[in-house]
Parts: sequence; C-alpha cells; structure tokens
Amino acid sequence: MSKFWNRMINAIEPYTAGEQPKAGQRIIKINTNENPYPPSPKCAEVLRDFDISDLRLYPNTDASGVCDAVARKDNVSPENVFVGNGSDEVLALCWQTFFEKESNTDLKVLIPEISYSFYPVYSSFYDVGTEIIPLKEDLSIDPGDFCGKPNCGIAIANPNAPTSIAMSLYGIRKILESNPDSVVLIDEAYAAFAEGYTTAATLIKEYKNLIVVRTLSKSYGLAGLRLGYAIGDPELIEGLKRARDSFNSYPADRLAQSIGEAAILDTEYYDKTRKAIIRTRTRVINELRKMGFTMPDSSANFIFAKPALPLTAETLYKNLKARGILVRYFNKPKLCEYLRITIGTDPEMDEFLKAVKEEAQNAKNS
Ligand SMILES: *Cc1c(COP(=O)(O)O)cnc(C)c1O
Repeated sequence: MSKFWNRMINAIEPYTAGEQPKAGQRIIKINTNENPYPPSPKCAEVLRDFDISDLRLYPNTDASGVCDAVARKDNVSPENVFVGNGSDEVLALCWQTFFEKESNTDLKVLIPEISYSFYPVYSSFYDVGTEIIPLKEDLSIDPGDFCGKPNCGIAIANPNAPTSIAMSLYGIRKILESNPDSVVLIDEAYAAFAEGYTTAATLIKEYKNLIVVRTLSKSYGLAGLRLGYAIGDPELIEGLKRARDSFNSYPADRLAQSIGEAAILDTEYYDKTRKAIIRTRTRVINELRKMGFTMPDSSANFIFAKPALPLTAETLYKNLKARGILVRYFNKPKLCEYLRITIGTDPEMDEFLKAVKEEAQNAKNS
C-alpha cells in the first residue's frame, strides 16, 4: 500500500508469474510452459543479417510483415490480424475494447472458474464485472453453460490452462451462436499442441463476434521476444487498433517483427518441434499414470497431474524444487491437488520422471 498509488493500484491483486531462476543456475525449468526447443534457425539468420541502423526508425505500427505471415498461415486476410507485445497485451486490449465497464452496465464478462489467471486481473484493472462459470466435475468446460446467460463478453482459453483440456470447435460454435451481441474471445495459446483440433480462426468469416488470440511464446519458442496476435473480423481488428493507438502505437519493435515473421513462415520447423513435444508428452503421461498419477488427456505443452497418495502435490513440488526441478504448484482450492508440469526435452523429462519415482518411494516409506 502507498499513499502515492491510486485507489485501483492499491486494491488490485496482480497476476503472479511462475519463478524465473537466475541465469547460471543448473535447473530443469518446467514451470512456465516455455518451449524447450530454440526458435527456428531462420530467426538466427534474421538476427545475423539485421541492419542495426534500422533501429533509429520507429517500427511499422501494424507489424504488417507479421500480419501477412499470419494471414498466409491461417488462410485469412491481413486485415483480419492484429499484432501486440505478447498475447498478454493483446488480451488486455481486448478487455479494453470489447468488454464494458461496470459503471456503464449490469452485464458481466463470463470466464471459466479455472482458466488463465490473468483474466480476472484484467477485469479488476479495467473495471469489468466478471461472472465465474464453474467447470464440470472432470475439469472440462460445458459450452452450454456459456449459453443463455446475458453478458458483455466471454473469454475462454482453448485448450484451457492449467487443465490442459480442449473444447471442440462444435462447442465454440454453440457459444458463438448463442451470444451474437457480445464478443467471444478464444485464447489459443496452446492450440498448436492439440491433436486433431481445428483452430477457431477458421470460423471468423462466419462469426463477426469471434476474436482468436495466439502467442509466439509457447509454440514458437519465443517467450523472450514478446509477440502475440489476434485474428477476427476487420471491425474487431479496427477496434483493437483504436485502443492501441490510445495507449502505445508501437507495441512490436523492429527486431521482434522481423524475427516473428521468419518464425511464422517456417512452418516445417514449427511442425517438427510441436510434434516432438506431443510425443514426449504421451510418454510422460504414460509413465506417470503407471505410477498412479491421475490427469486429463492433455492438448497442451503441459500436463495437469495429481500424484497418488501418500505423495501430495505440495510435497512433490517442494522436493522437486530442492532437487533443482521447477514445476508449477497453485496454492488454491481445487488446483492445489495438482501440479502443472511443462513438457521439456526428452532428457529433461527422464530426469524428472526418475526424481518423481524416488519421491513416490520416499513418501511410501515414511
Ligand atoms: C502464456 C499464455 C499467454 C501469454 O502469452 P504471452 O504472449 O507470452 O503474453 C496467454 N494466454 C494463455 C492461456 C497463456 O497460457
């Protein structure tokens, strides 16, 4: 608390990011869903050939090169794309652009009970009323629960985090059709890791109220670069640009734009790395289930796993940390029985599995 902060900053409870250990520590870092593989080699070429004197000049406001690359990959038009400084910024701008302040309406934005924990933070920050929609017993989202409820917007991560469960395109359609007057935001941060999932971006021509948000942080191994984007009808994209130009007209710098464009265009490398992660994920899930862990089938680059008693999630988190293996533990009701474990490289996951085996044995013996 400070007398110099305004009322909102004094009252807000900010998002807490996963730990980032200091450089030089030897650690297996599987706590913040980063990609274990480096970005495409094409990104290194861009860096090598980059003309440093270009940094004198402001970047292109719209990041047109990135928009063109996304348009090509997703078979949409560049007018359907909005680029921001990480998808966290794009999400924040969506809150500012599409959802109404509490002082202007009784309507609330609907978000799942368990989802990306930044959503309620944006709601407090931008004074948007929020209605929490409970998950089903199996931690999945029932699309029907987002239908027939008056609202000023809907935001859902699909696949959802930290549950790792994906909703079908059929479910998304149902929500879009039932809510023609509000914007439905589908956050596809992890869609690249969902086998057999068709992106909601294929629906933007049919539904003017759909905005799909993605990031280069997870599937392109570029969390350190800060690039994210939204795909939607030009009317929605124009609204986002109005918000951006009232806040920071140059969200993506020149280097980020050049590197991001190269990464998106290298679809071969993207497929190779995401498939490697999916393969490792299948193996890790099988091994953990053999040890009695329970977890939903994952559509993301992480798993949401519950250890078998007497081993608890909290003990396992602490003991793994002492061994230099960082996973994510949420000290919150419902979530505290689980650990969110990012899929790393095969050698990293072997070391992780070996440590878990020993911890499970220790718990039994004590
Ligand atoms: C990681 C994550 C983001 C944030 O991505 P950035 O582009 O790094 O800001 C957004 N949404 C979800 C659901 C995420 O897990």
